[in-house]
Amino acid sequence: MSYTLTENHYVSCLLCPKVCKINDGDCGDCGIRFNKSGKLDLPYYGILSAINIDPVEKKPLYHFFPGSLILSAGFYGCSFHCPFCQNFQISQEKPALNSQKYVSPENLIDLVGKNSLSSVAFTYSEPLVHFEYILKASKIARQNKIKTVLVTNGYINKKPAKELLPFIDALNIDLKAFTESFYSTELGGSLRPVLDFITEAASSSHVEITTLVIPGKNDSDKEIKEIARFIASVDSNIPLHLSAYYPSFHYTDHATPESTIERLVKSAHEYLPFVYPGNTVHLDNNTYCTNCGSLLVKRQGFKITQEGIKKGKCSNCGKEVPFKL
Ligand code: SF4
Repeated sequence: MSYTLTENHYVSCLLCPKVCKINDGDCGDCGIRFNKSGKLDLPYYGILSAINIDPVEKKPLYHFFPGSLILSAGFYGCSFHCPFCQNFQISQEKPALNSQKYVSPENLIDLVGKNSLSSVAFTYSEPLVHFEYILKASKIARQNKIKTVLVTNGYINKKPAKELLPFIDALNIDLKAFTESFYSTELGGSLRPVLDFITEAASSSHVEITTLVIPGKNDSDKEIKEIARFIASVDSNIPLHLSAYYPSFHYTDHATPESTIERLVKSAHEYLPFVYPGNTVHLDNNTYCTNCGSLLVKRQGFKITQEGIKKGKCSNCGKEVPFKL
């Protein structure tokens, strides 16, 4: 149970570190979790904003069944309010409920098999604020040998995280910056719980990290090196995706130049062997063997060839590759 009812008819939501006290008829900061006559109400349970079949690289996950397709479901709402959100139409806005189609967890997992797929992703907006739905769907997926993926801001309290993670196979977690001030002033959250969640998730599931690099906000070598050093302290095989920002929502500043991403990829490489540029056209996002430098996985857009990997090892030198295959 991830919420409690207080004596004053508040619902105290304990799901994420915001711990909202929600008045009767009101919703929490994520806009998704309501107080209806003193009880937690989830009117957006199973209301999907989008459902698509995507390449797994689009999540982005580069070391998790490369080249595979994944059923991708999105919801509405988010526990953060990033002024640069690239998906603000579904994270910060909600449609009228009667205009939306409900998809049950059972039906969603059914769709995975019907489309001859073997994995499902909860993505596009923040899935963790739909904890009850993704927990149920993930348990059904596990019973049916279907893999589960979360694309998330990692903002969740420890107790619900421990309940959910055993049913999650892979995560891409946003690490949006490495300062508490950025998390509090820009996003309306805090950094420490995200770092704790990354550490917890990496102990049980495949994890990749994404940092959206924004000019003048988090694009210093110092900050990216701190991010890379932290990730290496958890597990140096965790891939880091450094994605270029494009003007969106309240941010109108120019897009991140590819030269900035190129420079920061090099900085992060001081601590991590697997650092990839994202949202760029001309930069190399292939994977090379850390032992002999041979090409393991070639990526051209979403066209993937992995001829450099044979039975989980570099086909040139035999070094094991840290991929889920
Ligand atoms: S999940 Fe939503 S309602 Fe619950 S504490 Fe977080 S922001 Fe508040």
